[in-house]
Amino acid sequence: MSLPPEAIPATTPRFLCDAMLQRLGHWLRTAGYDVVMAAEGEADYARLRRAIDDGRILLTRDPALAKMRRAEKSVVVLQSDNLEGCAQELTERLAINWQLDPFGRCLQCNSLLASASQVTQAVVPEEIDRPLYYCPGCQQVFWDDSNVSRMRTHLSRWQDGDYCQSSD
Ligand SMILES: [Zn+2]
Repeated sequence: MSLPPEAIPATTPRFLCDAMLQRLGHWLRTAGYDVVMAAEGEADYARLRRAIDDGRILLTRDPALAKMRRAEKSVVVLQSDNLEGCAQELTERLAINWQLDPFGRCLQCNSLLASASQVTQAVVPEEIDRPLYYCPGCQQVFWDDSNVSRMRTHLSRWQDGDYCQSSD
């Protein structure tokens, strides 16, 4: 379940992630960051404008974006062409905490997850005896499975500064 909002430092960056960096955005969300994905083909100025208006950092591989007016504080251009390299670069730039609030957000829609109610418990297979989480955004129910534990391991590896290029 998500940490209470006051437990997340106010200085924690929020992101707008370019379509070409979607996997990185997905991992940031997994770590608990507020990440909105840019639409494929959304114009440069529109993405930058959205990032500024919404107080988000635009993550991109496009160096032209950093040269735009007002981009200085709102754009981070990553150079690596693979996921692990991008994660490392971003961590060096913004001190990303990969253990901020793992699985506190819905990976599909970015909403904060809540603990599932008894009512919701009724709709999942009986053999699930683990805590359930509910997404108020897309109404899905989640629980920790082997995929989640694999992803948790991945996050701790990144938190320990271990970026293995070959695993991408
Ligand atoms: Zn959702």
